Amino acid sequence: MIASGAGSSGASGSRASGSANPAPLPNALPPVWVVDLDGVVWLAGTPLPGAAEAVARAREGGFRVVFVTNNAGPPRARLLEMLASCGIDAESRDLVTSAEAAGALLEPGSRAVLCAGEGVAEALEERGVEIVNEGPADAVVVGFTRLAGFDDLTRAMRAVREGAMLIGTNDDPTYPTPDGLVPGAGALLAAVATASGTEPIVAGKPYGPMVELLRARLLRIALVVGDRPSTDGLLARALDAPFALVRSSATPVAPHGVVAAWEGGSLEEVVGLALAHACG
Ligand SMILES: [Mg+2]
Repeated sequence: MIASGAGSSGASGSRASGSANPAPLPNALPPVWVVDLDGVVWLAGTPLPGAAEAVARAREGGFRVVFVTNNAGPPRARLLEMLASCGIDAESRDLVTSAEAAGALLEPGSRAVLCAGEGVAEALEERGVEIVNEGPADAVVVGFTRLAGFDDLTRAMRAVREGAMLIGTNDDPTYPTPDGLVPGAGALLAAVATASGTEPIVAGKPYGPMVELLRARLLRIALVVGDRPSTDGLLARALDAPFALVRSSATPVAPHGVVAAWEGGSLEEVVGLALAHACG
C-alpha cells in the first residue's frame, strides 16, 4: 500500500545505461540527518536558540538535513515558512510529515473523513483521496488540531463504526508549547478509538508507515535527532541509525529503553557532539 516514493529507484544502485541523467549511486549522496521539529528546532513555531546555527553547521559538515515531524497540523508551505522565519532555508524535499505517511496508507480515489488539521487535508488531496464530511468512508484520519470539537469526534466515531479504517497521523500524547504541554494528536486519536472500539493504525514516528516512507526516500540515514525517546529514539532504532536526544519539556524522565548516542539541552549541543564524533 505504501507508495514507492521518489528516490527509491536508486536503492539498488542500478541505473539505465545510456541515460543522460543517471540516478546517483547511494554512496555518492550526502549522508542524511533526520531532525525533528517540535522541541528541537522550535516550540510551537517559536525558534529555539541556536537551532539555525546548528543546522548550518551540520550542512557545512557535509550532511543533508531532512526535517521529519509528527505534527501534521500545518500545510507544507506553512512549515517551510516557519523554518525560514527561524533562519533555516529548506525545500519541500527536505520535509517529511506524518500527514504524508498517513496519505501513503490510502489508495487514490478512496474516501476519508478527517478530524485533523490543514496539513492532513493537503496530503490526502495530493494523494488523490476524496475528503468527505461523514461516512460511509474507507478511512477516518485523526491528526493534531486545536479545532476538533464534540461533533467532529462524533462524525469520526460513527464513520469508524460503519466500517472505516481508523488512521492516526501519530499517537504523541502531548504537544510542547512555550506555555507548557497541550494535548497531542494521540489524545484525540484515543478518544475516537475508545468511542469506536477500534485499534488505530498509526502512520507517524516511530511506526512502520513512516519508517517505510523514509527508507524509500532517503538512502543514507546517518543520524536521527529528536526530543522524544518514545518516537524519535524508536525511529532511530527502526532505521538502524544512532539517536541524538535533545532534552525538552516533552522528554520523559524515564526513556523507553532507548540509548542515545549523544544527549544535550539543545540542537546546537548535540550537533556539536555528533560532528566531533563524525569528524574525529
Ligand atoms: Mg519533538
